[in-house]
Formats: sequence, structure tokens, C-alpha cells
Amino acid sequence: MANVYYQHSVEKNVLEGKKIAIVGYGSQGHAHAQNLRDNGFDVVIGLRQGKSWEKAVEDGFPVKAVADAAQEADVVMVLLPDERQAEVYENEIEPHLTVGKALVFAHGFNIHFGQITPPEDVDVFLVAPKGPGHLVRRTFSEGGAVPALFAVYQDATGTAREKALSYADGIGSTRAGVLETTFKEETETDLFGEQAVLCGGTTALVKAGFETLVEAGYQPEVAYFECLHELKLIVDLLYEGGLANMRYSISDTAQWGDFVSGPRVVTDETKKAMKEVLADIQNGTFAKGWIEENKNGRPQFNAINEVENKHQLEEVGRELRDMMPFVQPKVKVEVK
Ligand code: NDP
Ligand code: MG
Ligand code: MG
Repeated sequence: MANVYYQHSVEKNVLEGKKIAIVGYGSQGHAHAQNLRDNGFDVVIGLRQGKSWEKAVEDGFPVKAVADAAQEADVVMVLLPDERQAEVYENEIEPHLTVGKALVFAHGFNIHFGQITPPEDVDVFLVAPKGPGHLVRRTFSEGGAVPALFAVYQDATGTAREKALSYADGIGSTRAGVLETTFKEETETDLFGEQAVLCGGTTALVKAGFETLVEAGYQPEVAYFECLHELKLIVDLLYEGGLANMRYSISDTAQWGDFVSGPRVVTDETKKAMKEVLADIQNGTFAKGWIEENKNGRPQFNAINEVENKHQLEEVGRELRDMMPFVQPKVKVEVK
């Protein structure tokens, strides 16, 4: 069994009196900054001029250029998009990483795939919440938390591990459980999870189910409710009590259908494909492709995104959700 840490097992004062720079104020940044502030930590936000800067000021934080925030902080948490981190790190963070400071990530991508090489005399660790940033904030505000992983890459001061746990406690994750891992394990499992199950696997499954019903002549609105809307209700049951809890709540007919038809949809072939996806993550093929895609200005990313946003599932969904004000997203996404 993995070691899981909770509130009582944290050395609280190791970050006491330390200044924490949160670099980036997006999905993770705003959540870390606000949770840490609520827990009494001294937080400064590092940004460039723009939307996030205005938002962080509105939320009452001191906001500075990345270099200035990195210079005055003892702990620098990098919450920029993964594909931008190496450049900002080199120009604005590294020059200010003096002896004994801590460089922190929420995902191991840039360290693990060799895009960032920190100086030897700073602590380097990650604290990776296992959930979207907006839920990191929302669950914390409601008295809960999302669990997190932590890992130490470099322990220059002898206190990196305590700092990591204290940071995880600061964002609230010790309420839910914090697990120790390595940069390799966090990076590879995180990429695999989002590609095969949470994001890629789920969107592909939902679309395939929707298309199957619509192509068979059923109403798209019925197909939308069946394959997308209701998924949330099912996932809530899974989240609360695992497979058995969900199966307890559904009809025995549904449970029998689950047993006999689930394995017909997700087959040995699917698992073989998952193993190939994992191999591409492990051998660096995925990372290389993503770094290159960004260097080229994201031609494929943008083209696929445009097609996806026009999918019938999305168009029907927008119309139906407009009639359900109680399911509106907290943040409106502009669809191009
Ligand atoms: P977002 O894209 O939501 O936010 C990025 C932030 O960085 C924005 O505030 C953006 O500001 C700012 N930024 C971008 N470029 C620069 C720049 N050149 N200089 C200064 N600021 C800049 O990122 P995420 O929160 O999704 O991801 C951050 C990290 O957290 C990543 O490592 C990711 O893997 C990890 N992570 C993310 C999760 C998530 O839920 N999204 C889950 C777990 C980990 P602006 O408004 O100016 O563009
Ligand atoms: Mg993740
Ligand atoms: Mg991820």
C-alpha cells in the first residue's frame, strides 16, 4: 500500500514566514493562490500583463512580473502552461533561483522530459492535485479538497519533502489524502490518465455512443441526454463509492447490461491500444510531438479543436444547456 498523508502528519511550520510566488493565475494558479492565502500563507503572483493579471488584482493579490515575483519569493510554484514553462523559466525564473530556494511544479512534464534543468542548490519538488483547478478551489471552499501527489526531484536543503507536504497541506489536499510518488510516475500516469480514460477515452466514448444512436435514427437530443448529461450523475456515484455504489443505484437490468455489454465495447483491442498510448508516453514520443506541435504554432491542435467544437453533440448540447440554467459552467468558454 502507498503511504497516504493527512493533515495530522504534516510539519506545519517549515513554510512559515516563507514567501510563495505563484507563477500563472489560470486553472491551477488561482486555486493554489487562494487556498494558500486562506490558510495564512504569504502569496505573490507572477504574471505578464493581460487577463490573468487583471483577475489576480481583482482577487486582491499583489501581482508582479514573473522575474520580480521569483526574486522575492522563497518558493516558486510554476503554474504556467506546460508548453510555455521552459522559456519563461530560462528567462525569468532561473536567474533568481538563489541557494536554498524551492522550485515547484504541479506536473512533472518539463523536468521529466528534460526541458528544464534546475541548478543543483535549490529544492525541486512537485505537488500535483488530482483534479481540475476550478475544483481545487471549489471543493476547498466547501470544506473538502481534491487529493494530490507529491514528489521530490532534488533535496538541496534537506527539507524538500517537508516543504512539499506543507505546500500540499496549504492548498488543502491533506484533507483528501496526499500520496508520495516520483516525477516519472506522476508524469507518465497523469498523461496516461488524461489521454486514455479521463479526457481522451471519455470524449471518444461519449461521441461514439451519441453517433451510434443518431445514425440509427434516434433524436439527437435524446442521444445527448443519454450519452453525455447523465454521465455526470453516474460519475458522481462512482466518485462517492466506486463501481459497487454506482451499480447499487442503477436497475438490475442496467447492471446486467453493464456486465455483458461493457466488455464488448471496451475490448482486449482497446486495452492493446491503451498499452500503445502508454508506450508512446514512456518513450517520449508523445512529449516530442507536443513540443514540436507548439513550435510549429499548433496547426493540428487548432484544426482538430475547430472540428470538435462543431460536432453535432456540441451544438445540441449548447441548446439544451441554455434551457438548464442550473448546469451552466462556472467559467464560460468561448467557442470559435
Ligand atoms: P492555464 O493555461 O489555466 O493558466 C496558465 C497561466 O499562465 C495563465 O494565468 C496565463 O496568463 C499564464 N501565462 C501564460 N504564459 C505566460 C507567460 N509567458 N508569462 C507569464 N504568465 C503566463 O494553466 P493550468 O493551470 O491548466 O496548468 C498549469 C500547470 O498545472 C501545468 O503544469 C499543468 O500540467 C498543471 N496541472 C493542471 C491541471 C488543471 O486542472 N488544468 C491539473 C493538474 C496539474 P495569461 O492570462 O496572461 O495567458
Ligand atoms: Mg491530471
Ligand atoms: Mg495533466
